[in-house]
Amino acid sequence: MLSREQISRWSCQVLLPEIGLKGQSRLLESSVLIAGVGALGCGVAGYLAAAGLGRLVLADHDIVEIGNLHRQMLYSTADLGVPKVVAAEARLRSINPAVDIEAVQEELGELRTRELAAGVDVVVDCTDSYESRYAVNAACLEAGIPLVHGACVGFAGQVMTVRRGGPCFRCVCPEPPAPEDRMSCSQVGIIGPVAGIVASIMAAEVFKLVLGIPGVLDGVLLAIDAQYNEFAQCAVDVWDECPDCAAYRVEVEKR
Ligand SMILES: [Zn+2]
Repeated sequence: MLSREQISRWSCQVLLPEIGLKGQSRLLESSVLIAGVGALGCGVAGYLAAAGLGRLVLADHDIVEIGNLHRQMLYSTADLGVPKVVAAEARLRSINPAVDIEAVQEELGELRTRELAAGVDVVVDCTDSYESRYAVNAACLEAGIPLVHGACVGFAGQVMTVRRGGPCFRCVCPEPPAPEDRMSCSQVGIIGPVAGIVASIMAAEVFKLVLGIPGVLDGVLLAIDAQYNEFAQCAVDVWDECPDCAAYRVEVEKR
């Protein structure tokens, strides 16, 4: 049963037939692990806390630096030098004091991600290294928890949702690029709004997964070009020998 204050706070999203009071109650009971609270993680966490997601687990080992502030919208100049998960928790509580936040100041490996993923409904991969993305991908498949992957650099971004039985991030990218070919925001650059677009789409994926709303990017990579405003949905081919997801695909096919 929602209180009058809760109904007022979420009145605009409760109006949607896809959500309603039942969906809002479901959001309040749900939990999400956000791996990485950089530009993407800030956007995703901000929208989910504001929407009334019951519990957010924030994982990041970094502190807030001045070069983060143009795109990592939960942080202010006063947060410089503060661990990101600490600053993010304070900001999210100021948006929605009722949100339950677990701040994990660690860089997540596969094992730790699996531990944290076991207690949530959805994992959102907002990390910025291939090693972390592979670790989160494998851990989510192992734990059987849906994963929303996102990445961005320059004017471009991508989003894909991974679930057992379908293709995964490693099917898209079997091997990491050579170190000299990797593009990170700190090396190549990015404008803040691109991270905002990608994070917004990732947060919308979480709504759909938690509430069972159709339209999830299941096995589909959404490629975003914010310079020329092109959005392309690319079906991802399953990689038959994928070490991360092939075992689960066979399991599903046998049913
Ligand atoms: Zn795969």
